[in-house]
Amino acid sequence: MLIKILLVEDEPSIAEIVQFALASEGFQTTWRASAAEAETALTAQAYNLVVLDLGLPDGSGLEVLKRLRRVSEVPVIILSARDAELDRVLGLELGADDFIGKPFSPRELAARVKAILKRANRSSAAIEAATADHPNLNRWFELDESRASISFRGRSLALTRYEYLLLKTLLAQPERVFSRAQLMDGAWPDPAASFERSVDTHIKTLRAKLREIDPSVDPIRTHRGLGYSLRTGDAA
Ligand code: CA
Repeated sequence: MLIKILLVEDEPSIAEIVQFALASEGFQTTWRASAAEAETALTAQAYNLVVLDLGLPDGSGLEVLKRLRRVSEVPVIILSARDAELDRVLGLELGADDFIGKPFSPRELAARVKAILKRANRSSAAIEAATADHPNLNRWFELDESRASISFRGRSLALTRYEYLLLKTLLAQPERVFSRAQLMDGAWPDPAASFERSVDTHIKTLRAKLREIDPSVDPIRTHRGLGYSLRTGDAA
């Protein structure tokens, strides 16, 4: 499968070495040098991953990321020249998957790209496997990863990013009890930055949204002292 990467970077010299490093791993890279061009490219076609510089001539990469995250869960690696703690926190908060400060080694960037693609692949494979393992369930949920959306009983749920990621994690292994820490690993790009309590908060809002669609089933189960699990259908 051809892996397509969008590189958004206004420095031609950096763009060149990044493109070279990615090409030598067999990735096809499209280079764009401004926020506006990046957004045009992102609406024109799907990419497997985006490498996004923050300091762009027509705005901040963070704005690009924010708008992208409303419509897509494509993995994003941020590049930043500035020193960088705030960029890092903001970037991860807005849904970046990784962060690399400049100057960086192109080989390290290529290695991180590979690691993130592998992780993204594993989660779709796990969901497919879970679906195959439970042929006897009438499935209540439908996941559309390309649109970052989940439907429940035929109706699309309006989810925040964290609700989406939590539900997606639960959905990958129906009936499995996940501890709060495991859910955080699945849903938060930088688990150390959040508190376990917020898992409960997002589970609560998620339950309310499911109840709105169908109050007769309560698919999320609380396991006292252990965590949560998800029922994905009636036994056939
Ligand atoms: Ca720049």
